[in-house]
Amino acid sequence: MNKVRASAPQLEGLVPYDPKYLPAEAYLSANENPRDVDAEVRAAIARRIAQVPLNRYPDPLANRLRDLIAEANGLDRANVLLGNGGDELLFDVALAWGGPGRSFLNLPPTFSVYAANARLTNTRCVDVPRRADFSIDEAAVLERVGKGDIDFVIVTSPNNPTGQRASTAFIEELLDATDALVLVDEAYFEFSRATVRPLLATHENLAILRTFSKAFSLAGARLGYVLANAPVIEELCKVRQPYSVDAVSQAIGEVVFENRARFEPGIREIIEERGRVMEALRTLPGVTAYPSDSNWILFSMEDAGAAWQYLYDRGVLVRDFSSAPMLEGCLRATIGTPEQNDAFIRGLRDFLSESR
Ligand code: PMP
Repeated sequence: MNKVRASAPQLEGLVPYDPKYLPAEAYLSANENPRDVDAEVRAAIARRIAQVPLNRYPDPLANRLRDLIAEANGLDRANVLLGNGGDELLFDVALAWGGPGRSFLNLPPTFSVYAANARLTNTRCVDVPRRADFSIDEAAVLERVGKGDIDFVIVTSPNNPTGQRASTAFIEELLDATDALVLVDEAYFEFSRATVRPLLATHENLAILRTFSKAFSLAGARLGYVLANAPVIEELCKVRQPYSVDAVSQAIGEVVFENRARFEPGIREIIEERGRVMEALRTLPGVTAYPSDSNWILFSMEDAGAAWQYLYDRGVLVRDFSSAPMLEGCLRATIGTPEQNDAFIRGLRDFLSESR
């Protein structure tokens, strides 16, 4: 076999992102919506897709969907950019604001894709770790950006995997303290009912990331978007893949967004179930559950790895962070349907009584 030469040095030792996709009856591992798009919306999607020309390239900017999103947010088309999931847009931000000689401020523990993107783009990753209760060390973040060498910051609100949202007052202080791009990742904002969108009117250095993957049950269609002032969108357009959002996904996104009110009852159910699961977890001895503004609960316990296996053997897949840095002993359970949540709580209770 003729050998291939080594790939780029920043890839050395890098482990590909692994969502740990394993089959399970109760799939509570990836923070998806447990309920698929309903039958009527599905039928409307089928009708719309039937009209999509497949021999032509899609509209590169997905302008129809852009207009729908802009209008719903009191913005213009120039303030919205669609991507192939939020993931693509996160990479675009790292390409546009990162690079050799540039610095990204990260608030770990948080979504691991940010640090991976920094590494892929040869961007220096500066960490301001969260406190032991996973709250943001606001003073330390403000002090760090005050040095003036940070090019972009990502604040996840609510933060994955820890669960809590950032305060709007803090985001405003941060925006005022720096001219770095501040990306507020609101992938789960529908479950916290909180957004920093009004700050776009006064801060050119703000960008907001959203996704169709969670509240809108569309993880399979890969649609995310950024809201920002036009100069930020223009920079992102310089690095984006021209046709990353395919015509079929655009059509699906349009129908789902037009029908977004129909997803409200499902969102309300998840928020109610979150309260119920939290109460149940708090009655379990040796389990510490962290407050959540999102559609999952992070909790820590002894023997978390064994608990993960026990749950999985009973058809309940949760996310194992027990050996991740800063998350030792932690598991994360997505809020599912009431039946799935019952199976999760029952499984954990049984594990605890059997291991006593
Ligand atoms: N941001 C956060 C915090 C996430 O958890 C995720 C999904 N895991 C994303 C962005 C990206 O989601 P998607 O690519 O499905 O839009």
